[in-house]
Amino acid sequence: MYRSHNCGELTAAHINTEVTLSGWVQKSRDKGFIVWVDLRDRYGITQLVFDEERTSKDLIEQAQHLGREFVIQVKGTVIERASKNPNMPTGDIEILVSELIILNKSILPPFTIEDKTDGGEDIRMKYRYLDIRRNPVKNSLIFRSKVSQAVRNYLSTEGFIEVETPYLIKSTPEGARDFVVPSRMNAGEFYALPQSPQTFKQLLMVGGMDKYFQIVKCFRDEDLRADRQPEFTQIDCEMAFVDQEDILNVFEGLTRHLLKEVNGVEIEKFPRMLYDDAMRLYGNDKPDIRFGMEFGELNAVTQHKEFGVFNNAELVVGIAVPGGNSYTRKEIDKLIDWVKRPQVGALGMIYSRCNDDGSFKSSVDKFYDQDDLAKWAEITGAKAGDLVCVLSGDTNKVRAQLSALRMELAERLGLRDPKVFAPLWVIDFPLLELDEETGHYHAMHHPFTSPKPGQIELLDSNPGEVKANAYDLVLNGNEIGGGSIRIHDKATQAIMLKHLGFSEEEAKAQFGFLMDAFEYGAPPHGGLAFGLDRLVAILGGQETIRDFIAFPKNNSGRDVMIDAPAPIDDDQLTELSLKLNLKS
Ligand code: ASP
Repeated sequence: MYRSHNCGELTAAHINTEVTLSGWVQKSRDKGFIVWVDLRDRYGITQLVFDEERTSKDLIEQAQHLGREFVIQVKGTVIERASKNPNMPTGDIEILVSELIILNKSILPPFTIEDKTDGGEDIRMKYRYLDIRRNPVKNSLIFRSKVSQAVRNYLSTEGFIEVETPYLIKSTPEGARDFVVPSRMNAGEFYALPQSPQTFKQLLMVGGMDKYFQIVKCFRDEDLRADRQPEFTQIDCEMAFVDQEDILNVFEGLTRHLLKEVNGVEIEKFPRMLYDDAMRLYGNDKPDIRFGMEFGELNAVTQHKEFGVFNNAELVVGIAVPGGNSYTRKEIDKLIDWVKRPQVGALGMIYSRCNDDGSFKSSVDKFYDQDDLAKWAEITGAKAGDLVCVLSGDTNKVRAQLSALRMELAERLGLRDPKVFAPLWVIDFPLLELDEETGHYHAMHHPFTSPKPGQIELLDSNPGEVKANAYDLVLNGNEIGGGSIRIHDKATQAIMLKHLGFSEEEAKAQFGFLMDAFEYGAPPHGGLAFGLDRLVAILGGQETIRDFIAFPKNNSGRDVMIDAPAPIDDDQLTELSLKLNLKS
């Protein structure tokens, strides 16, 4: 028996008990005649004591030679500590050791394995198995397990069946590049790893499974913007015989359950917002509604004066910054520099100070009088003491820029409290999105999303206006889930694919299996998928998903621990009928 107890459970109630513990040496303090060792396992830390008066010299000597991260087993008696540590669950006791066995030695770890470590991120990624011994990482993984468990419990209770779908498949169009896998047995042919199980879950509905879920890995070969991973996990769900309302209710229920189970937070009904309103009021389809600072559109009250910048703009839009009138001129100039950074891309920023006496002082006083500025304040909801910040230009760009500014200011003002949860549904997304570069439309969600009833005719005349039965679940400014009611008949699916630029042959080659299935009695169906990594991170009050993934990849998609991706040898290439054609 390696242990009678773990390192986190012994308290004063165990005094005088004989115990056996196993774990890692976190650190030791050697006073010569007395040695203390912190013994760590997954459950906590227990202090061991070896002293001259009560243990043999031999044993003290052994203890003196223990290095950090040695794996040891001890037998001993639980005794009361002379100086207690109220911050530790085991802080009232220590173990007077009578027997010590070294189970395995450790070389000196490359960073200290304590809550506050001296190791930078790169080194901790390389030695992730050591990092996992640290509380912050360990607790995140335990937290993730708790969320997954709560998901499984809830969905199983609701009658969902967990079904696994294959990883070696063919391209699924979620808008990213595929990772491909060469097939040895079918020379020259490749599998694609699923960007999501989208088509399979729809086929499960055709198969009559009715309520499906799966906690599943998805693979997308994207340029990794910060905090994305090439492989990530979805809670993937689909239901048959449902409309949008049914889906929103079921998965609002799941999210509410998680918030309650995991965070002890009860939220009644999630608000719903039209996509068009989210864009108009927050410049963003995933608005953070933990705070206000809603956009106020100012075209009508700015474009009748001599100020060319506003007159020539498609959109003039502002936000009120609470308490922003206290900013010095220098601080405002810095803010202007901030919006002009290439990452944000604004050409400049106009502002109006809302003074305590009800007057205004703007950077464009030459063009706008007090009455004009009073209207700016009214429309943006600015009060005395606030600052109105105004951007102008092309609608889409300006909205994105002001949204970035809104989030930045809210962060600086401490309005993005990770302990506050503000979920909402954003509904009625457009079906199609114009790719400004190519001039082509592509599916905003994916090609299997159904247009709103009666709107399919609009596809020819005004494709950008067609709305979809598509919805996103947003939590604290992050999209944590998204889905749609699907097309479930071959004719509509064919029209949709035609509008997305597929020839009939291409449509058949890529999605023939799905369209064929639709001819055998496909039920109406719909679903959604949550991004589990991000959901867990937000519920855990953190920003980065990497902290909640046991073995994450870095920003270049590398696993620096196992050193992947890596070249394969010539024999393997030959076996796969592959020849490399590297440029450099
Ligand atoms: N497959 C979709 C996605 O990965 C989710 C869905 O439509 O259910 O975003």
